[in-house]
Amino acid sequence: MSNSNVLDFIAETINFMKGCGWNCYVCNACGRNFFSKKQLHGLNVVCNWRSCCKNAKSFKGLGKRKSLLKPSQVAQKIEVHFSSQNLKIRQPLNIVNTQGLTDLVIAGVQSFDDIIHRAQPIREGAFYIAQPCVRMQFQTSVATQDGTSTSFVNVCTESMGADFGSHLLAVDQWCGALSRVGLHMNDFTIVARLSKKDWGTGEFEAFELFFIYEGLELGDAAYLQIPQQHRPHLKISDIGFGLERMTWAVNKTDSYFDTLMPMTGAGTTEMFDACRTLALLALCGVRPANKGAGLQFRRFAKMLSEKYSCEDLYGYLSHYFGYWAQFVVPAIGREDALVRVRLEVERYVNLKVCEMLKLPPPREETTEAYLERMVYTCNASIYDLRQAIKTCKT
Ligand SMILES: [Zn+2]
Repeated sequence: MSNSNVLDFIAETINFMKGCGWNCYVCNACGRNFFSKKQLHGLNVVCNWRSCCKNAKSFKGLGKRKSLLKPSQVAQKIEVHFSSQNLKIRQPLNIVNTQGLTDLVIAGVQSFDDIIHRAQPIREGAFYIAQPCVRMQFQTSVATQDGTSTSFVNVCTESMGADFGSHLLAVDQWCGALSRVGLHMNDFTIVARLSKKDWGTGEFEAFELFFIYEGLELGDAAYLQIPQQHRPHLKISDIGFGLERMTWAVNKTDSYFDTLMPMTGAGTTEMFDACRTLALLALCGVRPANKGAGLQFRRFAKMLSEKYSCEDLYGYLSHYFGYWAQFVVPAIGREDALVRVRLEVERYVNLKVCEMLKLPPPREETTEAYLERMVYTCNASIYDLRQAIKTCKT
C-alpha cells in the first residue's frame, strides 16, 4: 500500500464521517484522529481509547434498559438488522481451524482463511457472521480485567473485493446496528489507527476504526489489503464486535460475567471462563491432546481439576453447552461432550490418588469408576480412598 493510498483513506473517512454528522478531532493525548458526535473543546479533546481513557467503567453511568437482554437476543437484533440490509447470513466455522495459521478460530474474518492461505478462488459479496472464537492470550487478564474472556462471539460483517467507499458504507450500517440495540452514537468515539500486520502472506498496512463506548472498546472496522503470491492483494472490509462486550454495554451490569454465568452460580470468573471455553471446545468435537486445539482443552481441564474439582463443574458445563448451541452446530451430542470433559478433568484426580496411595494406574475412567475398581478388584481401602479424594479437593 503506498502512502498516498493511506492518506486518501484518512481523507475519505473524514469526509464521509462529517457527512454522517460526526465531528473530526485530533486527540490531545495520543495524537490520533477520532470522531465524536459531541462538540468537544480544550482538555476534553481526547479519544477515550485505552491509555487515553480515564475511567473504562464510566459507560455504566449511561442510561440503563428496563430489562436486560441476553447475548443471544442482542445477536438476534443485529442479524435482523443486517438481513434487512440484504446481507447474506453465513454459518459460523467450527472452532478448530484447519485452513489458516491459528489452531483455533480467533475472528470471523477467518472464513476467508481458505482464500488467504490456500489460494482458493475469491468470493465476493458482503455477509454477516456470528463466529464463536477462542483467544488464549486473554486468559491472563480474565481474573483481573473485567470485560475479558477467552471465548466470545465475534459478530461481523465481511466483504471481500470491497472498495474503500463500500467499506465506509458498512461502517455506517454498523452505526445503525449499534443504535438498534440501544447503544447511541452520541456516547461513542471512533478512533482511527493505521497498523502494520502480517498474516503469513507478507506485511500489509491496515486502516482501522475502533468503536469506543464511553471508554469501553466494543469492536473495530478494518480495511485490509492482504498480499498474495500469485494474484493482486485481497481487499477485505472486516468489521467485527465482541457480542458479550456489546451485551455488557447494553445491560450495564456490574460485571461482564453477570450475564455469562448461571443465575445460581457462584465462583471466580477464572472458573466460569474455563467452563465456558471448555464447553465450546468439547461441543465442537475437540479431544484432549498434547498439541493444537486439544492442548487448550487439556489446559483448561487440568486447571479445573486442580483448583475447582469440588465445584458443580458439570452443571456449569451443561449451562454453557446451551449457550454455545445457540451459535454453533454441535459436532457431538452434549452427553458425549460432557463425558469427554469429565474423563479429562478426573484423569488428573485419578493420577493424584494413584500416586498418593501407590495404586495400579487409572484407565480412561471417571474417578468414581476408578475408585470402585480399586476397592472391589484391587482391595484398596475404601477409607484411604475417601481421605485421598478429600485431599485432592482442597
Ligand atoms: Zn487518544
